[in-house]
Amino acid sequence: MSQLNYIYDCSLDAANTLGFSVTAERYIEVDRLSDLRQLLSEVDRQQWPLLALGGGSNLILSRHISGVVLHLVNRGVNLVEQNEDQVVIEVQAGHNWHRLIEECLDHGWYGLENMALIPGCVGAAPIQNIGAYGVELKDRFFSLQAVDRQTGELVKFDRDACQFAYRNSRFKGELSGRYIIWSVRFALSTQAEANLSYKAVSDRLAQHGVYRPTPKDVFNTVCAIRREKLPDPDVLGNAGSFFENPIVEENEYQRLLTQFPTLVSFASQPGFRKLAAGWLIDQAGWKGHRQGDVGVYEHQALVLVNFGAGNRTALLSLAAEIQQSVLDMFGVELQIEPRCYPI
Ligand code: FAD
Ligand code: NAP
Repeated sequence: MSQLNYIYDCSLDAANTLGFSVTAERYIEVDRLSDLRQLLSEVDRQQWPLLALGGGSNLILSRHISGVVLHLVNRGVNLVEQNEDQVVIEVQAGHNWHRLIEECLDHGWYGLENMALIPGCVGAAPIQNIGAYGVELKDRFFSLQAVDRQTGELVKFDRDACQFAYRNSRFKGELSGRYIIWSVRFALSTQAEANLSYKAVSDRLAQHGVYRPTPKDVFNTVCAIRREKLPDPDVLGNAGSFFENPIVEENEYQRLLTQFPTLVSFASQPGFRKLAAGWLIDQAGWKGHRQGDVGVYEHQALVLVNFGAGNRTALLSLAAEIQQSVLDMFGVELQIEPRCYPI
């Protein structure tokens, strides 16, 4: 049994992309399964609260985190299966998501490139079934292994068992906090086919005269668009999209469309419509609004930012005002996407 090396009163200022000033009572990095099991058993014995922290890009943290903050640093990619046009790879949870995509492209393994530049670690990616530019994690997901905090067992989840939905999974819902994801398997294609389903990507490629794009072209295009549109957390603290795009019933959508003919929306599951939350917030007049040291990003109303000395209380208070004004104007409820910890 090895010694668990906690860092006490550890600053997490650089470990959350909102850039809030945060201190963890105990912080620990783990790269071996045996150490993880030992930690979980101590956490259980001491009844400490536990937060699994990846890249801190989807978390709204309070100033002090009691208990333990666990950061997995297990990294690596293994080829598990290979046939004519597909590979299955296993990736350790602490691996950087964007680096994984670069490595896959170098190997000629395709399918993740539309999700380039999403910050964070592989272990967090299944939690909200990350997605961007027309592709979701579930489209390339094969299975994952996670340690059950109640039993210490390593449990395998296939795609059905994860119950992936739009920016959601069982790990964000009923199983929240119960499992520590240790590794994730992806099924990738060895055929260099580009996914051009997202108009912003296909338009940009066409503008540049790229009519038969490769997955690498898609990767470069997604990176370029993201760098233009989104604030870099190293420069301006943020957690990406702050609110989920609301999914409304068809009759509700028709009501809104009559009142707001320029309403931006997209197809969803049958009988439902996905509204662009950023458009609703923009129409309610919030884009570029600053309130003390927090605000709404000037180029994308869906992103709330920290100008430097902002904190969770100020950000959540601004978020509540935005939610109320969108409710008053459109009758639509916005839900916050990142996880507030502690609640
Ligand atoms: P964290 O923020 O550290 O954690 C997120 C959640 O996962 C927490 O509940 C945490 O406890 C849990 N968790 C982390 N690791 C584990 C583990 N190993 N086992 C169990 N639970 C774990 N999201 C998208 O879907 N699409 C986007 O395009 C996108 N773009 C973004 C752009 C920017 C600039 C930013 C700041 C964020 C963006 N996000 C996007 C949100 C975020 O990057 C993703 O949700 C990402 O997967 C979070 O990874 P992370 O490692 O930072 O997780
Ligand atoms: P955008 O291109 O300005 O589009 C606004 C919204 O419209 C998006 O949220 C997107 O929904 C939806 N949309 C656009 N074209 C669509 C299509 N062809 N089919 C279905 N839905 C469509 O969005 P953006 O803010 O710059 O983000 C670009 C992409 O990156 C989006 O996929 C977005 O989800 C992702 N992103 C996510 C985060 C995050 O933190 N979650 C942060 C930044 C970017 P979807 O969101 O469902 O794709």
